[in-house]
Amino acid sequence: MAIQAKEQEFIFRSKLPDIYIPKHLPIHSYCFENISKVGSRPCLINGLTGKVYTYYDVELTARKVASGLSKLGIQKGDVVMLLLPNSPEFAFVFLGASYLGAMTTAANPFCTAGEVSKQAKSANAKIVVTQACYYDRVKDYANENGVKIICIDSPPEDCLHFSELTKADENDVAEVDISPDDVVALPYSSGTTGLPKGVMLTHKGLVTSVAQQVDGENPNLYYHSEDVILCVLPLFHIYSLNSVFLCGLRAGASILILPKFEIVSLLQLIQKHKVTVMPIVPPIVLAITKFPDLDKYDLSSVKMLKSGGAPLGKEIEETVKAKFPNALFGQGYGMTEAGPVLAMCLAFAKEPMQVKSGACGTVVRNAEMKIVDPETGASLARNQPGEICIRGDQIMKGYINDPEATASTIDKEGWLHTGDIGLIDDDDELFIVDRLKELIKYKGFQVAPAELEALLLTHPNISDAAVVPMKDDLAGEVPVAFVARSNGSQVTEDEIKQFVSKQVVFYKRISRVFFIDVVPKSPSGKILRKELRAKLAAGFSN
Ligand code: AMP
Repeated sequence: MAIQAKEQEFIFRSKLPDIYIPKHLPIHSYCFENISKVGSRPCLINGLTGKVYTYYDVELTARKVASGLSKLGIQKGDVVMLLLPNSPEFAFVFLGASYLGAMTTAANPFCTAGEVSKQAKSANAKIVVTQACYYDRVKDYANENGVKIICIDSPPEDCLHFSELTKADENDVAEVDISPDDVVALPYSSGTTGLPKGVMLTHKGLVTSVAQQVDGENPNLYYHSEDVILCVLPLFHIYSLNSVFLCGLRAGASILILPKFEIVSLLQLIQKHKVTVMPIVPPIVLAITKFPDLDKYDLSSVKMLKSGGAPLGKEIEETVKAKFPNALFGQGYGMTEAGPVLAMCLAFAKEPMQVKSGACGTVVRNAEMKIVDPETGASLARNQPGEICIRGDQIMKGYINDPEATASTIDKEGWLHTGDIGLIDDDDELFIVDRLKELIKYKGFQVAPAELEALLLTHPNISDAAVVPMKDDLAGEVPVAFVARSNGSQVTEDEIKQFVSKQVVFYKRISRVFFIDVVPKSPSGKILRKELRAKLAAGFSN
């Protein structure tokens, strides 16, 4: 690893050599580049029905979907919204849109109609693909904007059925000229501050990120075509879309798709399909370690457990290692804006390296990482904590329609500032020690304080509000609110909680409300979140 590239600049790189990355290819061509070798192998396995789609099936269906979308008017640069749990159709639409040079934006299907509509409007979605039970969440947006809804199951009267897409002739679509800088995925993330924003991930960015993980002689993340990769993490989050689905496709592996996490059926399916790789998040790690009947299942096929998306305690890491003695366990570190993978555990390399508990990997290949002093911006040497920054072709192009937020996240030299505080030790391993940014992570799901604060301020009896994270054993973190009541108001904690609950998805619900006279702010009006977090740590209560 080369350090100190310029005077006073400490830049960290992977211990593995850089690789060739075919950045000129669109993401679908890159993922299917080796299809002649794996075409007849199982690609997607529907965990619910057992139905298997080979690589040839998936490629063909994706091209049919491209043709079907095109017939419905979708063109290069348009946005298709996905409001679906994990399902083969999710994969077909993502790839189909990619063939057209269009983009997909996916939302959590549990989001409320208000939340879905905000994202759809911001992304300017031209079509929504969903399931009948989520119809109510999209119908207003669709009606107001003349947008078609496609259902993958029995469609309500004014919707089309998914077969409308798949019955199209795959050859009946014009070749589209796709540039590496065209956007293909538009996940939403609040980043280091403010409201959720559309993160523009390009073909080049995703190809680079997937290659950084699974390509080359000695891949950082060694998947091969005999692997069966568990896909239980939601595909609407970029962690799963990239590190599970796209990496799995590129490697020619089989991807077992499950719509939701339920411990017993998960363990049964791991046993039945002989799952070899389990990409998971800390709450699932926790649920597995605490499950009393784990030894009733034959989980001996599992050779790799990879946790990411949120911090994982050292103790849980040790427990899970003891429960899977024949598997490698390690962490990866991602952030939507970073494409998303910044660091990956080198125990997963084809030639595995020793790693320490608690580390969240080493910077991926073909990328640079530095740790900067948040006050001075100076880059720091090993073992000194500071803000983690990353540079490389895998990072986002920017936030859609938001040059200001883009400029405050990616600096003029191309460094993306993560808002996470970490250090790199003598063995090049990255440890995350704190979070500078506002973001709250409930079981790996993003909660943007600014969104909840804006909602709280619409309550007639609240004059000001601030939302911060509180530690929680099960969820990792939960949002709690500090609220200043309007003059004379006696609004209660329960009333406020209910007011919020009705309008947000379950993980954004406020767990506690603390009443204060004034929300502490800096002279420029910024909420002093550190002060509020300190109050919580000191045991503040009403
Ligand atoms: P998201 O954009 O939803 O993927 O959230 C990204 C954020 O999740 C990062 O900036 C970190 O704060 C947190 N995160 C992701 N992976 C890890 C990890 N392995 N350890 C600690 N925090 C993590």
